[in-house]
Amino acid sequence: MTKVRGLKCRECGRDYPVEPIHVCEFCFGPLEVVYDYEEIKRNVSREKIENGPHSLWRYVDLLPVENPTVGLTAGFTPLRRAEKLGEVLGLKNLYIKDDSVNHPTLSFKDRVVSVAISKAKEFGFDTAACASTGNLANSVAAHCAQAGLNCFVFIPANLETQKIYGSLVFNPTVVAVEGTYDDVNRLCSEIANDMGWAFVNINIRPFYAEGSKTLAFEVVEQLGWRAPDAVVVPAASGSLYTKIWKGLKEMVRVGLIESVRTRMFGAQAEGCSPIAQAWREGRDFIKPVRPSTIAKSIAIGNPADGIYALQTARESGGDWETATDEEIIAGIKLLAQTEGIFTETAGGTTVAVLRKLVEKGAISPEETVVAYITGNGYKTLEVLDGHLSEPVRIQATLKDFKEKVLAKV
Ligand SMILES: *Cc1c(COP(=O)(O)O)cnc(C)c1O
Ligand SMILES: [Zn+2]
Repeated sequence: MTKVRGLKCRECGRDYPVEPIHVCEFCFGPLEVVYDYEEIKRNVSREKIENGPHSLWRYVDLLPVENPTVGLTAGFTPLRRAEKLGEVLGLKNLYIKDDSVNHPTLSFKDRVVSVAISKAKEFGFDTAACASTGNLANSVAAHCAQAGLNCFVFIPANLETQKIYGSLVFNPTVVAVEGTYDDVNRLCSEIANDMGWAFVNINIRPFYAEGSKTLAFEVVEQLGWRAPDAVVVPAASGSLYTKIWKGLKEMVRVGLIESVRTRMFGAQAEGCSPIAQAWREGRDFIKPVRPSTIAKSIAIGNPADGIYALQTARESGGDWETATDEEIIAGIKLLAQTEGIFTETAGGTTVAVLRKLVEKGAISPEETVVAYITGNGYKTLEVLDGHLSEPVRIQATLKDFKEKVLAKV
């Protein structure tokens, strides 16, 4: 594999070979994929990408996989001009990157999982697993079905019913753990050491995380090979947020665009906002919290990439903001009613935080802004209980229709 040099510890810089490992043996820092950018620069071009497949694999030259075999339909989601939402928020050049329609399981996780499971196949694993807040479990279960791998997904027991069904339908072993995501993750780290499985967000994490970069690549290509002025990204572990920034910088590095001055804005739910709190208090370390929010897909109390997310905000001139549960619901409804996009709680968080950022002047009206909508509202229907109007119930008569419906509109 010539484009990938190996893995490197983000803390002490020690080098490792391309293997299913994720922490440095010496300092316990996380490992990251290192590329030969000169080699990639010789191979990659706008034309080659534009003529590539209509999936995230059009960027295979910048991903740590040789032969994609799974998730061949993930990515390549719409970037939509959002004029009506922009008008409400006071933005003239607002775009929605709509991963609520990602394939096959309607969240951005199909990107990271198609990379992770393709890599797990390359490594020769016969079983894949994950610790999940919901969407990851759905995606791992679907991709294992495609790949013919055995599958175990671990989730907190109190997840939304729709997300549990969204895993069960693919027939993996679903393990519902009493506790928070952080409890699930701790358990899975122990299991990963024991079992020799491909845990996509544990021992395969360095490869998995790279899939998130495609949310930067696609946006730049869809804007006509131009990086936006500002992006808003919902954060759980902080991986997506940091990898979008990495992706933008790589595009400059390999000559696909000239420069990047994108400010990276992070969005968390107030009830689980360890990164935003550290940012607010000017800390460079994370104090873990116990999640309490309806935004379960982004409820990670001890975020693995938290400190790198803080660095990314500093480096890019960005900021972090939070949204309360009530504001998240309002964000979901606002996006639905202005743009016809039904997102889940993470997307509601993005919209609510974007609103605050504009109000406080962190983003100005003329800027090109991309809001990342990372998941689908049909998977978190129950959060809308009591927040929507009721259907008008009538008998099947013209009289009832006139009296009960027409008289009221
Ligand atoms: C997992 C997830 C995120 C962000 O995850 P990170 O751990 O920060 O990479 C954002 N939105 C949705 C809908 C998710 O499922
Ligand atoms: Zn190290």
